[in-house]
Amino acid sequence: MTRPPQPVPGPELQVTVGDITDEDLDAIVNAANTSLLGGSGVDGAIHSAAGPELLEFCRGLGGCGTGQAKLTPAFALRSKWIIHTVGPIWQGGDQGEPELLESCYRQSLARADEVGALSIAFPAISTGVYGYPVDLAAAVAVEAVRSTRSDVQTVRFVCFDHATRAVYDSLVGHAG
Ligand code: ADP
Repeated sequence: MTRPPQPVPGPELQVTVGDITDEDLDAIVNAANTSLLGGSGVDGAIHSAAGPELLEFCRGLGGCGTGQAKLTPAFALRSKWIIHTVGPIWQGGDQGEPELLESCYRQSLARADEVGALSIAFPAISTGVYGYPVDLAAAVAVEAVRSTRSDVQTVRFVCFDHATRAVYDSLVGHAG
């Protein structure tokens, strides 16, 4: 008797408010820019907290394309890995932004699989300086993570403010 295919269980999705540099999951994701040489927002916070070795390491990576992701060690951070991904700059939504943002999440999960990272924390990529509306970006984030096959068991969306958290909570399906 052949069994019907079993649905593949996706990762557990968690939503928190905080500073992603405090996370102790296997990997944290950085919303970087194409230079990978540091910047403002979460990128600056991660470089400050990880220490100058991170910048030295990143100098050897040759940058990163929009929608792509590259791995580094986490140096002084509590996590083991940093996955640097470059989100799209919001230009109204019809310049491929949703596909590029989706790619950031898919590529980040692929990098996590390459090093056996089972837990990963994402910031709200592109929703700061890059101007992507939070409700649209969060919908892309949650759908991308739910629909990407990977070995990652825990995905934590680390929001920097409560308004962003409320958006993620409504999508992930629990409140508070
Ligand atoms: P982008 O250039 O991709 O828009 P930003 O760093 O400007 O990147 O913002 C991305 C998101 O990260 C925003 O929602 C911002 O509020 C948030 N953020 C900024 N600093 C931190 C931090 N230390 N931890 C978690 N999220 C952060």
